[in-house]
Amino acid sequence: MKIIITAVPGCGKTTVLNFLKKHAEEDKKNVVFANFGDYMFEEAKKRGLAEHRDGMRPLPKNVQEELQLAAAKKISEITGSVIIDTHASIKTRFGYWSGLPESILKILKPDVIISLEKDPQIILEKRAGDKEREKIGARDKETAEEIDLHQKINRAFVIAYAALVGAAVKIVEAKGEETEPLGHAKQAARKIWDDLKDSI
Ligand code: AMP
Ligand code: MG
Repeated sequence: MKIIITAVPGCGKTTVLNFLKKHAEEDKKNVVFANFGDYMFEEAKKRGLAEHRDGMRPLPKNVQEELQLAAAKKISEITGSVIIDTHASIKTRFGYWSGLPESILKILKPDVIISLEKDPQIILEKRAGDKEREKIGARDKETAEEIDLHQKINRAFVIAYAALVGAAVKIVEAKGEETEPLGHAKQAARKIWDDLKDSI
């Protein structure tokens, strides 16, 4: 099974993915976790185009498209179950840019596309605390309203993606009070794993 997980930056996607890795290990499931940005960055580095992952977003659109294509081709070579960590849309200076255009979707052939969502205010606080990425100008400064809009736009994108390739859409919301550290991420990972593990 091929699963794509998307979320806006600062939603805690990486943390959810780490919990999913733990579940996979505990249940002895063979699943490869592929970070789309890592594959793009590998190609960007090879071509001397970016020094850090967040340096890819300002690149010309056609160059980013070439990186996207290279990443998709590499990931499609992985056999068995794959969980792909990526973005439904990238907020660039050109506007919201499709993270998974038809050409890329047809290479990746996902069965399930997950949109991970969170209260925009919590995302805002997480971004404010992310000093390391802030230093390199990694994250664009946005208001809670802008984050909310980006999440809504991402929903529209994932629905279109699913319709293009006959995939299922799964909206996973990390909401409510966080009763323990990383509680939201833990709960989201548990839900995803319980729903999908039998097909992995
Ligand atoms: P991440 O660490 O997941 O936020 O990804 C790092 C960077 O990789 C993003 O800021 C984008 O520049 C790039 N990236 C990841 N996934 C995609 C995608 N599907 N399409 C275009 N760029 C992507
Ligand atoms: Mg991340």
